[in-house]
Amino acid sequence: MSERDLLTSCVHCGFCLEVCPTYQLSGDENNSPRGRLRLWREESEGRLAADPWTVEYTKDCVGCLACEPACPANVPYGEILEQTRHQQVSTGRVRPAAALRLAAWLAARPGLFGLAMIPMRLLRRWNAIPHRQMFAGRPSITLTTAQYAQRLMAEHQPTGPRVALLTGCLMEAVFREINFATVRVLIENNVQVVIPGDQGCCGAMQEHLGLDGVDALREQNRSVFRAASVDAVVANSSGCGLATGKALSGDLPVKDVLSFLGEIGLTGRAQRERRARVYVDLPCHLVHGQRSPGIPAAVLDATGYAWSLAPQAKDCCGSGGVYHLQRPENSREILEKKSAFLNTAAGDPVILATSNHVCMMQWASAGRSGLVTRPYDVKHVIQLLDPGEQFRVSRGPGRAT
Ligand code: SF4
Ligand code: SF4
Repeated sequence: MSERDLLTSCVHCGFCLEVCPTYQLSGDENNSPRGRLRLWREESEGRLAADPWTVEYTKDCVGCLACEPACPANVPYGEILEQTRHQQVSTGRVRPAAALRLAAWLAARPGLFGLAMIPMRLLRRWNAIPHRQMFAGRPSITLTTAQYAQRLMAEHQPTGPRVALLTGCLMEAVFREINFATVRVLIENNVQVVIPGDQGCCGAMQEHLGLDGVDALREQNRSVFRAASVDAVVANSSGCGLATGKALSGDLPVKDVLSFLGEIGLTGRAQRERRARVYVDLPCHLVHGQRSPGIPAAVLDATGYAWSLAPQAKDCCGSGGVYHLQRPENSREILEKKSAFLNTAAGDPVILATSNHVCMMQWASAGRSGLVTRPYDVKHVIQLLDPGEQFRVSRGPGRAT
């Protein structure tokens, strides 16, 4: 579709307004999907001069994509937003902060990023990072997920479907323990896991920032995963899964790892902590971006915990890739509304579980910034299924996808 076709596809019905977190916060039409589309169209057709306010309203968008499934005209808002952000950066109207540009540059070089983040992994192991978004975890310092998977594959020799795991840039460099848990859960369920060593960043960060290089990153992953001879690519971060789905569209299925486990019928786990109560939040890029119905109930049941969906589970938490760094006040206000239930939620201890590391960071910040005043843990759902270091491969599931 041409840029003009994209921008004229909105029929101004307003059905998207009530799902938009920034419209909900501000009540400002220009801060809604319909309003932003209107501003971008007016500019592109020359009726509105290039205006700093248009840039501000563009920056205010979280990129949650809640407006897409709400739209009866199927306006591809995410695609339009991606093009607009890129255009505003490439024409010099927007200049992302130097620290974010450096982070994006590093993320596109996973080897270097992994080395640069060694101190961060060490500090996480020691639970010594004071940053409000840092959730607890014990990542391996030197062993990579690829090395770990190779070792477990040789040890357990699963015989089921063969998948490639997208390890991600930030996930592998900082939150590696979630990748390790993913490998264990897959192999325990008789899934063959390969991790192509030359896979790169999915490009989501560059896309959020409007930077060049997204196509090259997608192309690299497309050729790497196509060469891996797998049934599917699985992702344990919904944002990275969405971006990789764009790269591999028409070539290979890209599946959220929890949806994939639901499809193959995973092994149930024993209940470990009878008193713990799990509240499940659904990442926007899973339910709106990937149009998934959510995390399968059978998968959540298999954790062995008493669980329920968090109130407003499908609403945005305000993390939005790098949005929480670029628009911290908006991000906090969105989170405040969403996280309030935790203060009085039943259960002790309480776990907030989701399936995107950036959402996990956002949820961790609710406690550290005082929005939630009772103790709670933040976990990836895959960690609740994790059998730990000692496990045996189940030969139950494992039919080919
Ligand atoms: S992506 Fe989210 S924040 Fe942006 S316009 Fe759509 S609903 Fe609103
Ligand atoms: S729901 Fe779709 S068509 Fe209606 S105003 Fe929003 S973007 Fe436009």
